[in-house]
Amino acid sequence: MCGIVGYLGSGVAQEPLIDGLRRLEYRGYDSAGVAFHDGDVFTLARETGRVENLANVLQGKGSQSSLGIAHTRWATHGAVTVSNTHPHLSYDKKFALVHNGVIENFSSLKKSLLHKGIEFSSETDSEVLCNLIAYHYSTLSPNSDSFIQAVSTALSESRGAYGIAVLCLDNPEMMIGARRGSPLVVGIGEDANFIASDASAFVGRAKEAVFLKDGELAILQGSEFRITNQQGHVSEAVAQPLDQTLEEVELGDFSSYMEKEIFEQPHALQNTLRGRFGDDGTTAKLGGLEGHEDELRNVDRIVFVACGTARHACMVAEYLIEKLARVPVEVEHASEFRYRNSPKSGRSLVIAVSQSGETLDTLEAVREAKTKGLLTLGITNVVGSSLARETDGGVYQRVGPEIGVASTKAFSSQVCLCAMLGLALGRMRDLSPTDGSNLVEALLGMPDLIAEVLQKGEEIRELAVKYSKAEHLLFLGRQSLYPVALEGALKLKEISYAHAEGYPAAELKHGPIALINPECPSIFLVEGTKLSAKTIANMQEVKARKGPVIAFVPEDIEIPEGAADDIFRLPVAHEVIRPILANIPLQLFAYHFARLRGLDVDKPRNLAKSVTVE
Ligand code: GLU
Repeated sequence: MCGIVGYLGSGVAQEPLIDGLRRLEYRGYDSAGVAFHDGDVFTLARETGRVENLANVLQGKGSQSSLGIAHTRWATHGAVTVSNTHPHLSYDKKFALVHNGVIENFSSLKKSLLHKGIEFSSETDSEVLCNLIAYHYSTLSPNSDSFIQAVSTALSESRGAYGIAVLCLDNPEMMIGARRGSPLVVGIGEDANFIASDASAFVGRAKEAVFLKDGELAILQGSEFRITNQQGHVSEAVAQPLDQTLEEVELGDFSSYMEKEIFEQPHALQNTLRGRFGDDGTTAKLGGLEGHEDELRNVDRIVFVACGTARHACMVAEYLIEKLARVPVEVEHASEFRYRNSPKSGRSLVIAVSQSGETLDTLEAVREAKTKGLLTLGITNVVGSSLARETDGGVYQRVGPEIGVASTKAFSSQVCLCAMLGLALGRMRDLSPTDGSNLVEALLGMPDLIAEVLQKGEEIRELAVKYSKAEHLLFLGRQSLYPVALEGALKLKEISYAHAEGYPAAELKHGPIALINPECPSIFLVEGTKLSAKTIANMQEVKARKGPVIAFVPEDIEIPEGAADDIFRLPVAHEVIRPILANIPLQLFAYHFARLRGLDVDKPRNLAKSVTVE
């Protein structure tokens, strides 16, 4: 998520820092700030909204310091306010810190610091880390070794993901960076060194970069730097030349945001899952639902409202939640819900799902539900978005900004959160601890299984090459794989403009089979259940009519000779995980299919990322 830039050099820090923030803007953020080491104080400037607001505030004033840190925040803990914006200063004003990521155990750390009489001025997890460093430093003699020791000790007490840059007032020639889970890189320039979450922040100013590994610290002192582990052992700093263009750096090895976002799913989903399970390992613990436990236990119906891909995620949720929590679930197009007179009881729960949290149709559905006095929950990726503000409670997806217009990682995390919600509701009702812990284990193992599927990306590219001339395609699946079929077809339509439709596999013979011919491939998603035999029979119906068949099948399901032209094998997984896994190759298929047609997958025609009109 979001951006860090730090500067330590012989020039003035302000311009390279603001410039660095501008270059990190593509990652998406909600507020920006900067802190300069100005001798005996830190000069702080923080603004919500665009980096440009911050630049305007600093214009003509600011600082002449040659040491500073800057940050673009994408809020995870606490609303989008100036006081929550980074950098954070410690309670004694001796430390300034910027942080990307999430400190999972922040509330217990905060409790013990409050107990020591330490005061806080933000709601963030990041300020806790800053105060923890200051507290440890206060127990040592004030020098550079103590600065390093205080940071290392505080990090060893913190759980979760972080990329940080820290300054200490007593050390005017020093900056410390550290990472675990969130990226951090040191930039080596001629008259300055940098720390940033992404090398694009200092391209053109630094000639080489050293990418930190998890658990490493970067200690910049004067014009020198060294990389160590948390125990202080120096590691080899492998500097890589920085000769890429800005765009190449932002995208890394990827040619588009869509491709990048597909491939970052293992990591993104880890963020969705992190710190969200009960200590006994049998249930999900979703902070945004706290305080609503009694209402949730008594809910007699769940109505999901959403649009597009998010609605497909809700349709998967319908299968998962009914099974896990045994509550009747229905899914409505948000735009239809609003104008219907459908009867609801006071115990109905409305769950609205929108990546951006600004989808107008979905927001209007929430407003309508509220006028009817129903409890509303939101699932969104954007902290402080309208959906987050207007619902009674909710859960953040935490997958970082999604820039590609066609939603990929957001879908996976929405399904994942719905499964966790089903687990939490299930455990409040009938679901046994054993079933609960099996599901927790399966969810925690999911990022690795996604990575396994992504490793076979080349197989998918070859399939796309083989079928890229097709103008009509059918996507078919049963049960929770039916909405995945809908999503596969939508993805292909959105970015390749081929005509694709999704159906429950058994529906084929009730109409769509009329379309089957040698030019119309059918993509079958085969379940890992007894139902697979029925889906395989549907595949044979297509083959009998000379339609090409591509099958996506778990490794343990046998496919009879001749039933499919191409078979892609998926890892064997818990049934709740299967829809997420089955969708990954379909994302890649759509991606390659569109690229082979020479199309810009990040900017498909006629589509907008956040649909804020009805
Ligand atoms: N968890 C921190 C916050 O909410 C950092 C978020 C980020 O990565 O920007 O302030």
